[in-house]
Amino acid sequence: MKFGGTSVANKEAIQRAISIVRGRLDQRPVVVVSAMSKVTDSLYRIAGEAAAQHEAEIASLLDQLRNRHIDTASELLADSGHFLNEAISDINTICDYLEKVALSVCALGELSARSKAIIISQGEILSSTIIAHAMNAYGIDTEWLDARKMIISSGNPLNSDPIFSEINARVPGIIEKGLKHAQAVITQGFISSAIDGEPTVLGRGGSDYSASLIGMAINAEKIEIWTDVDGVRSADPRYIDNTLCLEQISFEEAAEMAHFGAKVLHPLTIEPAIMKNIPIFVLNSMNPDHKGTAILANSLIGEGAKAVSWKEDILMINVFSPKMINATGFVQKVFGVFSDNHISVDIISTSEANISVTVAGNQDISHLTKQLSEFAQVNVDNCKSQVSVIGKNVVNHDDVLQRIVNALNGYNVNMISQGASNINVSFVIERNQLNEIVNSIHKSLFQQ
Ligand code: ASP
Ligand code: MG
Repeated sequence: MKFGGTSVANKEAIQRAISIVRGRLDQRPVVVVSAMSKVTDSLYRIAGEAAAQHEAEIASLLDQLRNRHIDTASELLADSGHFLNEAISDINTICDYLEKVALSVCALGELSARSKAIIISQGEILSSTIIAHAMNAYGIDTEWLDARKMIISSGNPLNSDPIFSEINARVPGIIEKGLKHAQAVITQGFISSAIDGEPTVLGRGGSDYSASLIGMAINAEKIEIWTDVDGVRSADPRYIDNTLCLEQISFEEAAEMAHFGAKVLHPLTIEPAIMKNIPIFVLNSMNPDHKGTAILANSLIGEGAKAVSWKEDILMINVFSPKMINATGFVQKVFGVFSDNHISVDIISTSEANISVTVAGNQDISHLTKQLSEFAQVNVDNCKSQVSVIGKNVVNHDDVLQRIVNALNGYNVNMISQGASNINVSFVIERNQLNEIVNSIHKSLFQQ
């Protein structure tokens, strides 16, 4: 059971989370928590201010952080005697350590990946510590477990890659031992460590991923992601009216939605669940009776359009070579350059003499275009957005494609791409028409 930042944001939220866990005690719950909402942002700021040697800013941010956690613990545990004293003492120990690390970084004016990983990890340590005390105080016998002993990762310490074999080897024993003495165990999302014990994290939003890694390792019956919306919707309701809540989607649809812009789950969350075919439920901690969304094996899911998602900020790169006509090896050469530059391509379309691709907008591609220009004409367009319609067999199902084409009538469409797995059809359109177009497509697919 993973509770995100807003589901543990304050006393009321934590009490709701605890009562949800209480309802699952017969299922031996493993609770995974994020930092309280906005805390990780503030830890990134502390790291930044420390690197910039802004001592006064650090002191003020640390004060706010300490006070917020002590206030929350005090509200939760006002009548709980020694639990409150223990919680406050733990919070102070964690915050003192954080302060020591931040001030050493500040003294040196040098922020290593290691120091940064330590600083940004403290939000989950704090939230899990407070919630563990509260669960015990409220009569749920709970053991606190250190995720850094379970989630082992490699690569960039600040955006690390979990090592599945290590996780599968370590997690079951630790959880089993914890649940021998307790009704529930609680651990942290997001944080991890390298095989040699160096601190690492899984990257922003990584708590979902932690939960599914643990679910995989213990062969969990199910993975519950508790958030602040009623499950996965047919589009982002902040931009589109009358979105639908999706009762069931497939692992592949969920992964595709996350990858193509929907802010539902951390994009890698699905992978460990697929390996063991463990259903994922996306549920609302503020509305726990709502059924939410079940993410299940593809064979259990019906065909047709499920969602419209988009990426506003993309770059469309056109590579043109008259020599491509009847030439072999051009495509390979072009994608070789992308791969050498570690730039991942989203959608691709080709014609006789032209290759068009889209890539994420927030990156420097000057080296890539320079290399491509050595053998082709290159044009980069930064005024485009990308829209995807996602669903099993989306293109061939009923009149889905016809409805999309109708919705796009009158708009300029620059690229069309249908994923080979037939689960995604994507379009590149003018960015200043994005809002109109996604509303038009959503309406045409879901409101007629
Ligand atoms: N606390 C981390 C973040 O804000 C991880 C998470 O919430 O999933 O990115
Ligand atoms: Mg989150």
